Amino acid sequence: MKSTHRIGLLLALIFLLPALFFSVYEMSSLNSDEKMIQDIYQKQLDAILFSVNQYSDDVIGSWIARVEPHLDDDLPADSIPKKIYDLVGLNAALSAVFVIDTVDWSSKFRIYSTSFKASDPVWPRVQQSLRDSAAMIAQLVSYRKSGFQKIVKLELQNNPSSNHCLVFIHQRGTSDYKIAGMLIDPEQFVENVVGPRLQTVARDQFVLSVVRKQGDSIAYTTTAPDTTATTAEALTKDFWIFPEYSLGIRTSGTTLQQLVRERTQSNLFLLIGLDVILIIGVVLVFRNLKKEVDLAQNKADFVSNVSHEIRTPLALISMFAETLEMNRVPTEAKKQEYYKIISKETQRLSGIVNKILNFSQTEANKKHFHPESLHIDTEINGILSTYQFHLSNKGFEYTYSPAGDVWIYADREALIEILINLIDNAIKYSAETKRIEISTGVEGAFGYIAVRDHGVGISKKDQKHIFDKFYRVSSGNLAKSRGTGLGLSLVKQLIEAQEGKITVQSEPGKGSQFKVYFPLNKT
Ligand code: ADP
Repeated sequence: MKSTHRIGLLLALIFLLPALFFSVYEMSSLNSDEKMIQDIYQKQLDAILFSVNQYSDDVIGSWIARVEPHLDDDLPADSIPKKIYDLVGLNAALSAVFVIDTVDWSSKFRIYSTSFKASDPVWPRVQQSLRDSAAMIAQLVSYRKSGFQKIVKLELQNNPSSNHCLVFIHQRGTSDYKIAGMLIDPEQFVENVVGPRLQTVARDQFVLSVVRKQGDSIAYTTTAPDTTATTAEALTKDFWIFPEYSLGIRTSGTTLQQLVRERTQSNLFLLIGLDVILIIGVVLVFRNLKKEVDLAQNKADFVSNVSHEIRTPLALISMFAETLEMNRVPTEAKKQEYYKIISKETQRLSGIVNKILNFSQTEANKKHFHPESLHIDTEINGILSTYQFHLSNKGFEYTYSPAGDVWIYADREALIEILINLIDNAIKYSAETKRIEISTGVEGAFGYIAVRDHGVGISKKDQKHIFDKFYRVSSGNLAKSRGTGLGLSLVKQLIEAQEGKITVQSEPGKGSQFKVYFPLNKT
């Protein structure tokens, strides 16, 4: 397996696979989380309503605690003990307090009230109902004996008032028990006692309401009534002391379901977002690693290429020099030929060494450029006149179409280096059609030189890499041709250092055109 493929597989195994498993697991557990959150929320709401019920019970309990010590005060008829008066007189919800002997029904039936006279039609009904509830009263007494004060609602037949009657057992001394009770206006109780409590509990987070079961109408709500629909309550519970009423609660603004759904949705988006980031990250890491691995591979190839490049001329030089040294050359003409070969191969060697030095200097930013105003045609004519011989020697014909009077701003040495590299490549990578076309022109703020050949061409995939250092196309017969993989990389560096650019257009089998752009001279 190729090393880059192995790295890709490893990355996928280490990062992507666990992330994918985690995401699938998280997504499937989101639903159960949603249910769990809803359950917890429901319990919380339940607890709030419980606390409201508890509070109402406590209020009634505290009222009883305040009136009980004064129920037996020996006062003239129609007068009310001060403590009871304070409570009944100042509390709109508490209309009356009464007390009666459990054994002797004909004994005193004392009423402490500012609004209910003894003649009120409600009292005979209270007495009748008490008589009918003997069993219940006996049970309340037994509770009281064991130390537990229970308060019960007394049902009144044809109750003429809107007040509810609550009864409890009043203990006098150690063994004397009396029935005591209160008339409470539930609407006032809700308004004046429960209401303020609901407001404190609700704050901005909840909407709490008291609903009349009959007719499903709202008795009290912590928001403006027109915005409240009783059906929208997330949870309703019975109101303990007034069972005709119920307590309702919901989250203010959005409903509970919406809230949970929104949460689940944002979790889902977050998860998908994280996955996407992870995938992008892994792809980026993979691409970088691949680049490094490819570079290392190309470097290794470069070393073997260069060794090969150097070995051939060295072998030739050493062979011919040895022959000459041993005086084994028969004719003077042959001698001249051998000298020529030695000189040519030496040039080739120094060409290679120069290229490598040039490359390393440019890459280390140690190369100094001396840009000047250059007449493009004059420069190219100069280069072509010295290169003409080499070209025709290799069997190439060339055409040159100058654009005319174009001045560019460039370093002369670099320009020559660039052009020679491009022409050299055109020669190296041409097979049957040995024709090179050179032209110049102006495009925007640039003057360009184009070198076109009719050789092997370059595939789209390779075009992306040919400017990378050490890169050589590895397929095709001409891959075996000599080269270091540094030429185009050097050309690119040289041209970019002068704020120019290089482009390539090529089709495999049809040839290539390289275009180098230099900034036009502005003066
Ligand atoms: P080298 O020629 O030493 O291999 P270069 O950097 O000059 O290195 O070129 C890189 C690769 O680009 C070459 O290996 C070759 O495959 C391809 N190439 C460059 N110029 C041409 C061209 N004119 N025609 C076809 N292929 C080319």
